[in-house]
Amino acid sequence: MKKITTYLAFSALLFAAAPYASAQIKINSKGIGAVGKGLKAVTFSDADAAKLAGEAVAYMDTHNTVAGEKDPYTIRLKKIFAKHQSEGGLKLNFKVYKVSDINAFACADGSVRVFSSLMDIMTDDELLGIIGHEIGHVANKDSRDAVKSAYKREAMMDAAASQSGVVNSLSQSQLGSFATALLDSKFSRKQESEADDYAYNFMKQHNYKVTALASAFNKFADMDKGAKRTKSEKMLSSHPDSAERAAKVLEKAKKDGLAS
Ligand SMILES: [Zn+2]
Repeated sequence: MKKITTYLAFSALLFAAAPYASAQIKINSKGIGAVGKGLKAVTFSDADAAKLAGEAVAYMDTHNTVAGEKDPYTIRLKKIFAKHQSEGGLKLNFKVYKVSDINAFACADGSVRVFSSLMDIMTDDELLGIIGHEIGHVANKDSRDAVKSAYKREAMMDAAASQSGVVNSLSQSQLGSFATALLDSKFSRKQESEADDYAYNFMKQHNYKVTALASAFNKFADMDKGAKRTKSEKMLSSHPDSAERAAKVLEKAKKDGLAS
C-alpha cells in the first residue's frame, strides 16, 4: 500500500496545490489589502477558516487513494459514525484514505479523514475515541485557530516578498506552505487535554465504552515502545505521552463508575 502521510510528503503535494489554493486566498481581498499595509488586523471569520481548510482537504482527496462507497473500509466507517453526522454544531463528512500510515485528522470545515491502517489496528469503539478527539479539536475551534495562525504567518511572508517584487512566485509558495503549516499544526498541551476531555464526554454521552479511549492510547504507547513506527509516522507526535493519557482516561472512568 502507498505511504503518503509524512508531513514531508504532504508538503510536496501541497506545494503543487498552490495555484489551486491561490484562487481562494485572492477572494479574501480584505486580508491581502491589510497585509500590504503592514499587517493590520486581518478579519478572519469561522467561514473563512472552514473554506480554506476545505480547499486543502479537497486537494488531498484528489491526490490520495480514497476508499470508494462500496469499499469495506467506507462501509465500516459510515456504520460507526452513522449517528454522528454533525458534532459541535458542525456538519461532518467522512472519508477513508487507503494508505499505510497510521493516522486520522479532522479539519475546520468538518472533514474527517481516517487512514485505513489506523482502522486495521483499532476496534470500532477505539476509532470513536480517537476520532472523537480529532472532532474535539474542531469543536473547540483549535482547528480554526490553526488556520488563522498559519494564514498570519503566510501573510507576513507575503508582505516581505511584495517588497522584493516577486509577488506571483511568492504567492504560490506562500499558499503551499500555508497548507503545509495547517496540516503540521501543533496544539498546546491544554488544547490536547481538552480534546481528550471532549472525546471522553462524547463517548460517555453516547454510551460507548469510554475505556476504549484508554485502550486506543495504550496501543499507541505499545507501538512507541516497540518502535514500530518511525518518528515521522507517529500519529500526532506532538501529543502528550500516550500511556499518561490512557491512565487519565481510566482514572476518570473509575470516578464515573464506568471502569473497575
Ligand atoms: Zn490532538
